Amino acid sequence: MRIAFISDIHANLEALDTVLDDIKKAGADEICCLGDIVGYGANPNECIDRVSKYCGENVLLGNHDAVAIGLMTTRQFNVHARAAIEWTAEKLSAKNRRYLSTLPLTKAVGMTTMVHATPYEPKKWYYITSLEDAAFNFQYFDTRICVIGHTHIPTIMALDDEEIYSHEERWISYAGKKDLRLLVNVGSVGQPRDRNKDSSYGLLDTDKKTFTLKRVPYNVEKAQAKMRKAKMPEFLINRLAEGR
Ligand code: ZN
Repeated sequence: MRIAFISDIHANLEALDTVLDDIKKAGADEICCLGDIVGYGANPNECIDRVSKYCGENVLLGNHDAVAIGLMTTRQFNVHARAAIEWTAEKLSAKNRRYLSTLPLTKAVGMTTMVHATPYEPKKWYYITSLEDAAFNFQYFDTRICVIGHTHIPTIMALDDEEIYSHEERWISYAGKKDLRLLVNVGSVGQPRDRNKDSSYGLLDTDKKTFTLKRVPYNVEKAQAKMRKAKMPEFLINRLAEGR
């Protein structure tokens, strides 16, 4: 079975549609979404429609989704994120607002735990930015694999018995390695921040026993033009082309 994990779409419909196409080509049986469907981009309603259609029950709440429907204040947001989320809150349809309000913070599917930010206290929206953070969080899920988003930086962190390391390749095999556990950040579909503007997502193959981080180029200029029309902050428009 192949399961695709997408995260941090941030209302970027050009990126989402391109990724959904790539996932289809990759032959995924299921698609799971780790949250932050909205915020930053120009197509929040369209992105929610796609995610609810293609991901079924496997959709989580992200911090931007929570702020967009008033579950949280904008206090932790910078000025650009705040401007974008206020625009988003106004645009959301009543149906999509209701949909976001039903999403859980975490979910386990088979051998995989899903959460937007961290397995430890998912509601606090902490960030995993170091191996120390990762080592701490490995204690807070009991499945073999945990997939996360939130930082927009794709990373594979592995715990093999007692040894923890950051896996530098784009894919990892856990075949024949019974003590190996994974904490994978699948990166961002709609606003990558690792100096690579291509969309990022994760693909788990439970037959081959591999986890792969995939990259897909999409039409950045088109997404930017829509944001410009919506009068989004210039900083948010420019960062898409730089992947930061
Ligand atoms: Zn995000």
